[in-house]
Amino acid sequence: MDKRIYLCLAHMSGNEMQYINEAFDTNWVVPMGPNVNAFEADLEKFVGEGKSVVALASGTAAVHLALLACGVGPGDEVLVQSFTFCASTHPITYLGAKPVFVDSEPETWNMDPQLLEEAINDRIAKTGRKPKAIVPVYLYGMPGKINEIMEIAHRYEIPVVEDAAEGMGSRYHGRVVGTFGDYGVLSFNGNKMITTSGGGALICSSEEAKRKIMWYATQAREAYPYYQHEAIGYNYRLSNICAGIGRGQMTVINDHIAHHRRLAAFYKQAFASVDGITFHDELSGMESNFWLCTVTLDEKLHVKNENLAYAHAIQGAVGGAAGVVRGGGSVHTDCEPNVNVEAMRINLDKEGIESRPLWKPMHKQPVYAGATAYANGVSESLFKVGLCLPSGPMVTDDDAERIVKAMLDNLE
Ligand SMILES: *Cc1c(COP(=O)(O)O)cnc(C)c1O
Repeated sequence: MDKRIYLCLAHMSGNEMQYINEAFDTNWVVPMGPNVNAFEADLEKFVGEGKSVVALASGTAAVHLALLACGVGPGDEVLVQSFTFCASTHPITYLGAKPVFVDSEPETWNMDPQLLEEAINDRIAKTGRKPKAIVPVYLYGMPGKINEIMEIAHRYEIPVVEDAAEGMGSRYHGRVVGTFGDYGVLSFNGNKMITTSGGGALICSSEEAKRKIMWYATQAREAYPYYQHEAIGYNYRLSNICAGIGRGQMTVINDHIAHHRRLAAFYKQAFASVDGITFHDELSGMESNFWLCTVTLDEKLHVKNENLAYAHAIQGAVGGAAGVVRGGGSVHTDCEPNVNVEAMRINLDKEGIESRPLWKPMHKQPVYAGATAYANGVSESLFKVGLCLPSGPMVTDDDAERIVKAMLDNLE
């Protein structure tokens, strides 16, 4: 059988080991040191706009600390894009606050600015208070309508935390996403645009804001010769060893983006003439990193073995290593991909090609059943028809051809 093709695998530049060795040779094996400083400097240069960047243990930690710095606390409401990965929303609950979900517009699949403004006004009318923060997301790396979102945020004076965990290096009219809001989140998990094995960063608007985040990220220690604590902190800094991987990865980030974009162009061209398969493309003026290339399958499109879709309960969960997910799920939920999408996923899987449904909107997740949502049906409809395809530097041109051929062969 041909080699298995994965959704998005890490790709090393070759000089990560040099920086890791430097960390060992100099005994800097703690969550600070020369690699952390140099990695942050690389990131600051990459995002530009005079921003300051703090390296952290994960993207989730970056979301958490950004919300904390925005003053989010118990009982507060945070407006967050519903169409996202749970790491955008879970930290809201860590702070005792409530996520209020805002649906997407159909063009970029990201936060709908008009719905955002409706939500702000409705929350003020119903609670007498403004939401504490707005969290738009760049789903699959796709730039959203950030200018319109920032205009609304400024008008209502609500801080913005851009979740650019999937959008590292994507651009909106030339400017890197994550640099528009008060804070911007990056992730260096194993499957993102670059990796530090696990890690993340927070883009901050000033050195002062960066220092405050660093303080929170190192247990909020006060300036005394002994441990003095006047606030609750976290242990969220990035290890100097992991930062070494990050430094190596920063030498190939632009190559990675170019490769993801080349694959996107290939998929776009390959599906252009296929009735019922639509490639999710960027809008003009926007430049996606195409972290994951995505397509939608028309409900009327028929795929081989549709009768086998949802025939068996899944063992394990999406992206979960053995032992970290709960098993024993039932076959169906009240909101799931159409049978042709699930059949395509299973068929591709049997041919050694990993694909994945779109992220299930948070307002449809049982864990958020009680949360308020401003829904327009867009993310729910997309979830039913969408599929993520293998993307990234480990997917060769031959692989891409094999993937497209397999998909076309699976049509009835
Ligand atoms: C991956 C991801 C994160 C969090 O990143 P981790 O580094 O995995 O904690 C946050 N938001 C989105 C949308 C993501 O995809």
